[in-house]
Amino acid sequence: YATTHDADLVVIGSGPGGYVAAIKAAQLGMKVVSVEKDPTLGGTCLNVGCIPSKALLHNSHLYHMAKHDFKQRGIETGEVTFDFKKMMEYKANAVKGLTGGIAMLFQKNKVNLVKGVGTIVAPNKVEVHGEKGVETVNTKNILIASGSEVTPFPGVTFDEKQIITSTGALSLESVPKKMLVIGAGVIGLELGSVYQRLGADVTAIEFLTSIGGVGIDGEVAKTLQKILSKQGMKFKLGTKVLGVKKEGSTIKVDVEAAKGGNKEVLDCDVVLISIGRRPYTKGLGLDKVGIALDDRGRIPVNNKFQTTVPGIYAIGDVIHGPMLAHKAEDEGIVCVEGIKGMPVHFNYDAIPSVIYTSPEVGWVGKTEEDLKKEGRAYKVGKFPFLANSRAKTNGETEGFVKVLSDKTTDVILGTHIIGPGGGELINEAVLAQEYGAAAEDVARVCHAHPTCAEALREANLAAYSGKPINF
Ligand code: FAD
Ligand code: NAD
Repeated sequence: YATTHDADLVVIGSGPGGYVAAIKAAQLGMKVVSVEKDPTLGGTCLNVGCIPSKALLHNSHLYHMAKHDFKQRGIETGEVTFDFKKMMEYKANAVKGLTGGIAMLFQKNKVNLVKGVGTIVAPNKVEVHGEKGVETVNTKNILIASGSEVTPFPGVTFDEKQIITSTGALSLESVPKKMLVIGAGVIGLELGSVYQRLGADVTAIEFLTSIGGVGIDGEVAKTLQKILSKQGMKFKLGTKVLGVKKEGSTIKVDVEAAKGGNKEVLDCDVVLISIGRRPYTKGLGLDKVGIALDDRGRIPVNNKFQTTVPGIYAIGDVIHGPMLAHKAEDEGIVCVEGIKGMPVHFNYDAIPSVIYTSPEVGWVGKTEEDLKKEGRAYKVGKFPFLANSRAKTNGETEGFVKVLSDKTTDVILGTHIIGPGGGELINEAVLAQEYGAAAEDVARVCHAHPTCAEALREANLAAYSGKPINF
């Protein structure tokens, strides 16, 4: 086994940012070493993030439909029950298949994987501390893609059984009777939905007066809250959590109104703390090479993803911008293209966000709140799924599409969807926005009938001409 390697590029971290960058760099002819400390590839997203959460969301949704919705559609079943262990196995298999898939892609693209914690000891040298000992990689360039970790809650220790992070929520042994979720952002809503659908009594506690986290349009957030409340999820907004403690087998959560005053003690079997994530830079040795973090613990980079040290780059959750897998991936690709001397261009205004609840929420670009704050004159085109023929036939009519376009030029500034397949449909809006389309452009594109995508077209029609056809 080799203890010294030579490379053109060492990528530290094999999450969606790192593994995609490693493959792209190899495809561009670089000799690439990928360094990963965890036993499997794929980082947060594949192991304890996007992939396992979506497996549980999908299957808990199917169960919920079978239990509560099939009958009215004329589908008779016996009593519908679920096998939680099997659901978890299904999730584990999805994760295993996809993380194993990266290992195969690495082989195919000749990316050399070195397992262990990567520490930068000099601008051209990475030491990897693994089970087999220390390996050294001499390299022309280094790309840091070390991702993020859960933001801890002051004074709270996670046991990942009753006081849990998203990681614990993805591998509980049974469905809790009563669950409290601290933070009604993306994780709180998605994983809260999973357990609510499986029968838990779920209450989400949120400091702000609206749900959905950063960047969601206010009208969409209100609609989502209404729909999730109808499904049985409870919300305590404008509420501050003072402390969490275990008393016997019960978890007590002390809360008070965010504005001060009214104190209350809530109890539950399981509390999920989902108040955000923070950049992960432990063990990288950044101080040794003179890279200082910003005030939020992120690695500062310029628009070519270069750190302050020549030859060292950073992408993904560990730098600025939204903590999203597709953002990390796309940064990885343009970053390594830049190392090869190609142009580096990344449009932060056209990154989609999706909340995979039922219905799904998807958005790109500016919210109405953003535009008001900027004092920009804009037009609104709205179309409800209630008036969309496919949504109607499918019995999925909750929600709407809202398109915001510039008042004079008609250029699309933002699109907000809450409704069936919103997470897929948003990609059409992203394409339009990336190409600088006007609302009229999308409205004049022929859309297949009957599809939910026609609602997006109609909202664009309403934005540019003032009137949709079917509403
Ligand atoms: P990460 O995926 O965090 O990967 C970093 C990797 O680096 C890890 O494997 C880590 O072990 C390794 N590493 C760190 N330091 C070292 C070192 N010194 N040496 C060796 N290896 C090291 N995003 C979406 O876009 N859609 C979703 O649906 C979605 N769902 C999510 C659900 C949950 C529950 C969570 C927690 C997150 C979710 N995210 C989602 C966010 C997404 O997972 C992250 O944005 C994404 O994984 C960031 O990719 P990354 O490559 O920057 O870092
Ligand atoms: P988040 O930022 O989405 O939501 C955190 C929420 O917690 C916010 O609404 C915030 O106001 C609230 N909060 C913070 N401190 C609080 C306190 N003390 N008491 C009560 N509420 C408090 O963060 P998250 O849900 O933990 O997710 C972390 C990251 O993972 C996000 O940045 C997100 O981008 C990513 N993620 C994405 C997806 C997706 O794309 N579908 C899914 C899951 C996670």
